Amino acid sequence: MLTGIHILLTLKCTNECEHCFLHCGPSREATFTIGQLRALVRQIEELGTVNIVYFEGGEPFLFYPLLLEGLRMVRAAGFDAGIVTNGYWATSVEDGLHWLRPIRELDIVDFSVSDDEFHRLDKNDRRAGFAREAAQRLGIPTGAICIEPPSVSRQVSDDNRGKPVIGGGVLFKGRAAEKLTAGLPVRLCKELTTCPHEDLLSPERVHVDAYGNVHLCQGLSMGNIWEKALPDVVHDYDAHRHPIAGPLLRGGPIGLVKEHGLAISDCYVDECHLCYTARKQLLPSFPEYLAPKEAYGL
Ligand code: SF4
Repeated sequence: MLTGIHILLTLKCTNECEHCFLHCGPSREATFTIGQLRALVRQIEELGTVNIVYFEGGEPFLFYPLLLEGLRMVRAAGFDAGIVTNGYWATSVEDGLHWLRPIRELDIVDFSVSDDEFHRLDKNDRRAGFAREAAQRLGIPTGAICIEPPSVSRQVSDDNRGKPVIGGGVLFKGRAAEKLTAGLPVRLCKELTTCPHEDLLSPERVHVDAYGNVHLCQGLSMGNIWEKALPDVVHDYDAHRHPIAGPLLRGGPIGLVKEHGLAISDCYVDECHLCYTARKQLLPSFPEYLAPKEAYGL
């Protein structure tokens, strides 16, 4: 049952992080209007199963008035609300307090700040820390999201003893699949038989972008809310008949490759690396299911 909606308020971002699933950056434009947000919140209410709505991006604070208005709509509709930001706006704790006071009034349940090497263009950049400190001073529930560049170590326990393990927490989809996989240990494609991270059969949370795409995984759409309202998108979704999710459910990324007869290499870093590579090949054939194109760096 779908209980969480993550609104991709904009694909525009201050940074172009190498691990970004959606290839966000300063040149991206896709941003909700207030009218679209209003329509989405109404559709979420009609669905009747959602508890929490997150605002993220891209960088949602780039459109601060829109973020505030969206939060007000979501809270007025009775949903819990959360935000994910990189904190670029917190040039000091004092400045951060000014940005966050109106948000404190809306009683959000989670304020997550991306605070890692990828988001810090300068290692002395302390803005993410300022944002978190300001939120903590205001009593806003606050957390940090820390994804570090891939590191390779050797497994020391269980049956896989001695096998290379990739640490750092990066998922190799989106820009990460293109920028961060070189030189990493790889696995045989025949081993990549499941999707390890998403419930494609019955998702509990999805992302929605300004184009209306409802993402099962970034760039993998279950439908479009500007063509069909969210309750219908959800109720009509049949994972097994979906041309991308169906093969992934039946056989994982290698199942997707086989069912569509794709030509690929023998080895990939992990399931997401192969899945993203296969999906990018399939993009011209299934543009309505593999959307938006920005998720594939286009
Ligand atoms: S295997 Fe594919 S669908 Fe599953 S999380 Fe990775 S990229 Fe997403």
